[in-house]
Amino acid sequence: VIDPPVAARAATATPAVPPGGGRIAARFVVAAPDRVLAPGEVVWDRDGRIVALRRARARDPIEPVCVLPGLVDAHVHLQLAALSRAPRAFVPWIGAVLAARAAGSAAAERRTIARALASLRATGTTAVGEIDSSGTSAPALARSALAGRCYRELTGFHLGRDDARTLVAARWRATRIALRAPEGAAPLGAVAAGLSPHAPYSVSPELLRAAAAAARHLAIHCAEVEDEQRFLHTGRGPFADLLARLGRLRDDFRAPGVGAVRWLEQLGVLRRGTQLVHCQHLERGDAQRIACAGAAITVCPGTIAFFARDLPPVPAWLALGIPVALGTDSLASNRTLSMRAELRAAARAWPEVSPRVLLAMATTNGGEALGLPGLGRLRRNGRADLLVVPAARTLDASLAAFVHGEAPLLAVRCAGRVVRGVAGAAGAAGRGR
Ligand SMILES: [Zn+2]
Repeated sequence: VIDPPVAARAATATPAVPPGGGRIAARFVVAAPDRVLAPGEVVWDRDGRIVALRRARARDPIEPVCVLPGLVDAHVHLQLAALSRAPRAFVPWIGAVLAARAAGSAAAERRTIARALASLRATGTTAVGEIDSSGTSAPALARSALAGRCYRELTGFHLGRDDARTLVAARWRATRIALRAPEGAAPLGAVAAGLSPHAPYSVSPELLRAAAAAARHLAIHCAEVEDEQRFLHTGRGPFADLLARLGRLRDDFRAPGVGAVRWLEQLGVLRRGTQLVHCQHLERGDAQRIACAGAAITVCPGTIAFFARDLPPVPAWLALGIPVALGTDSLASNRTLSMRAELRAAARAWPEVSPRVLLAMATTNGGEALGLPGLGRLRRNGRADLLVVPAARTLDASLAAFVHGEAPLLAVRCAGRVVRGVAGAAGAAGRGR
């Protein structure tokens, strides 16, 4: 919906650009995929808070650019570097990730995180859903300009009720302290806290319940491979072997006898605030269960390509009203941490999905998947997380060029501050810092 000209609104006086803040008047300001100002104007203050968002006045100089919300990478592992030897079969790949993690140091992990954050900012990502396996991501994100949610990871297929509660309490507390943020509304510039019980094959029912009792916002790898479903139904297969090797298969283990989504539903974990990652192998009725529960799904096209997996039915999920978000996953299963590459891959994978809906998957749906619906959109009093790209003649052409990767990023602003700018494009990047 393009806002019609509103004479009264356009006639109101432009507030002076606050010192240290900025302003940009553009041919198109995409406040959200379903709300476009043409031409539009965004003004932000020195703290990076949007103080005005409206139609530009015809007599103002309008830059031939399109302003978009910063991208939301709903699922990333900042700590995971590329593997020197990366098996393309899933269970051996998990073994390689665990071995790399055991061989690494905290200092190396901090350097990997810093590089990952830099490459995300440079490619237009201004908010993340990070899976923090070791506790080093939370302080790095607290110092970064990015927004989003940091989910502290939990594994432990062997943990009973008391051990599960102890682990959850310790990690949940440490994460919130490191982020200096409450779980709910994160103040401007802050990253909120969540928990990530890793997957139904690596987390005991007691640990899943304890995580759900502590935190409203969860991220869970779900139905990623067929062997996961087989393990949950029968208790057999490569995951049973892996858990036995790791000494994590309890004597009292009984297979749930249902697939991943129904298992999470039975444990009370399938609910609003839960983000299910991958969902490659849903069973009959699972998508409806996810939609009814109000949970979100995040897909990672780079990981799908890495493991040469089948494409999940994203258009059908979107038709059910599920907020389907995009994520880069990690460099252990993706060539680059670029949401623009994910968008391009998604546009190729699901050509029936319009550029506008693809953009929603990379912005507003990401904010919903993180339980932070203010992210991935421009709004008054929200963060000035925005991208500047050249405008085509029409809005549709501008959006198509963006999702297909044809429009170069002229500028990326995170809470108003330039984190990527192109020399000579200062005007296009907006005035201000
Ligand atoms: Zn993941």
